[in-house]
Amino acid sequence: MIKVLSISTHSQVEFLDITSKVREVIKESGVKNGICCIFVPHTTAGIIINEGADPSVKKDIITQLDNLVPLSGNYKHGEGNSPAHIKASLVGSSETVIVQDGELYLGTWQSIYFCEFDGPRRRKIMVKIVKND
Ligand code: ZN
Repeated sequence: MIKVLSISTHSQVEFLDITSKVREVIKESGVKNGICCIFVPHTTAGIIINEGADPSVKKDIITQLDNLVPLSGNYKHGEGNSPAHIKASLVGSSETVIVQDGELYLGTWQSIYFCEFDGPRRRKIMVKIVKND
């Protein structure tokens, strides 16, 4: 099955914890064992798995991405959002997680984040679950 989640972002750059939304999709699917792929069909947003317990970690990631890819620079892209395209390339557009006994097989401190780099916007997240019982 494939599920399309719609979300709204509220800032230019923002990381949203979507772990519980993905868990709901797995529950809905009834799949006990398999693979869950979370994919973002956008060029200025991405998906990461990282620390979900301490909110400072996502702030540090955002800050250091800003340092790596400054808002102004010698960018050629006419839309003016090259930093967002570059950051989206750095974090990637998908993650894959094992589904075991109907649960996401994440580490204790791991969460799944939708990464907005050119918001605020309406965005889509595709969640595909492949059953392998
Ligand atoms: Zn662009």
